[in-house]
Amino acid sequence: MVENVEAIYQRIVARNPGETEFHQAVKEVLESLGPVLVKHPEFAELKIIERISEPERQIIFRVPWQDDRGEIHINRGFRVEFNSALGVYKGGLRFHPSVYLGIIKFLGFEQIFKNALTGLPIGGAKGGSDFDPKGKSDNEIMRFCQSFMTELYRHLGEHTDVPAGDIGVGGRELGYLFGQYKRITNRYESTVLTGKGISWGGSLVRTEATGYGAVYFVREMLKMRKESLEGKTCIVSGSGNVAIYTMEKLAELGAKVIACSDSNGVIVHEKGIDLDLVKRLKEVERRRISDYADHHKDAKYLAGGNIWKIPCQIAMPSATQNEINGNDARHLVGNGCIAVGEGANMPTTPEGVKIFLDAGIAYGPGKAANAGGVATSALEMQQNASRDSWSFEYTERKLDDIMTRIHASTYETAEEYGAAGNYVVGANVAGFIKVARAVVALGCI
Ligand code: GLU
Repeated sequence: MVENVEAIYQRIVARNPGETEFHQAVKEVLESLGPVLVKHPEFAELKIIERISEPERQIIFRVPWQDDRGEIHINRGFRVEFNSALGVYKGGLRFHPSVYLGIIKFLGFEQIFKNALTGLPIGGAKGGSDFDPKGKSDNEIMRFCQSFMTELYRHLGEHTDVPAGDIGVGGRELGYLFGQYKRITNRYESTVLTGKGISWGGSLVRTEATGYGAVYFVREMLKMRKESLEGKTCIVSGSGNVAIYTMEKLAELGAKVIACSDSNGVIVHEKGIDLDLVKRLKEVERRRISDYADHHKDAKYLAGGNIWKIPCQIAMPSATQNEINGNDARHLVGNGCIAVGEGANMPTTPEGVKIFLDAGIAYGPGKAANAGGVATSALEMQQNASRDSWSFEYTERKLDDIMTRIHASTYETAEEYGAAGNYVVGANVAGFIKVARAVVALGCI
């Protein structure tokens, strides 16, 4: 990191103590920005990095709810409205016991640049709670969501802040959240949430978008290297929404997915993962991935196993932050992996990223590779605003175009800044410049 940027980084760390994931996300972006300040001294003069690194607004609230036995629980809710220079605050809600302010801030910070890369008019935000949906009944989930929205609703609005899902928040949770919003406000405002069900204002392809988009990004990276997905052996960590639709698109484009996982273990199925079964287990029955092995005797379940030790040509981390450390990255590179496309947010540690970059493999960082989800949220907003609904094919074509454009702009920006083939630099610089220009234009507000 260049000296003046390092000083800014140290001040950010001191002002936000203990928020290690936020520090990690900020450092990763700031490391790319030295040459940008040389080309654009006005960004330094106008303190653009400092302004973008400080959230515009942070909301922390109490979420009390009653379980099925009548016991009262208190969780903590968050919404960090990070930056609205390019458009309304936009970003998902995460319900997971690991959630605290540092996680929401890292996600919100990344979201600013990711959203900028989509080329659509959306600012960056993130929210969530330390609530653990695992093992809760539908009624408990509903009561929690209602309590969460009872505070959050006053901060939302079509022209203000539009949340969506993330880990632990899918169609079911968004339904309960939207129901409570509608009830409190007495307004059917489809535009206030994205990722909605198709029958109540949602967009086709939104469910599939993050996974499909990540695969399109990998397809584009391979194209630059005169390679394709056809016949490639892939592993996809996770088995939630992002992982499922990553596996679906990989298979559709001729690749073979041989492993997926959840936080308890790994399924290896050399014949190719049976996606219908994963969908049934995870989307309908809400079970653990270990049950997969009961249905396929030739599949192996590795309890507590490390998916990154399985040899593959393409790896798509689609579970959570920091799931690939330096050792995992070394295993992947050593086993002949040629491309990594991140469906999850910040799934690779800084040491892991360095190993991928030094090895010269095609490495697509999350803020570029997984932007298809939020991009399709913006397409959902367009449909809601015009009270229209587009076909699956039309929406998917738009998603494909957006991902192809993000790939091109990150690739070209990396070249322009003397870091050919480095999509980390490409994504950070292209995203930052877009936001910085808007911040400058709007004045000191
Ligand atoms: N949570 C998703 C992300 O990480 C989607 C956000 C959205 O659609 O607003 O980008």
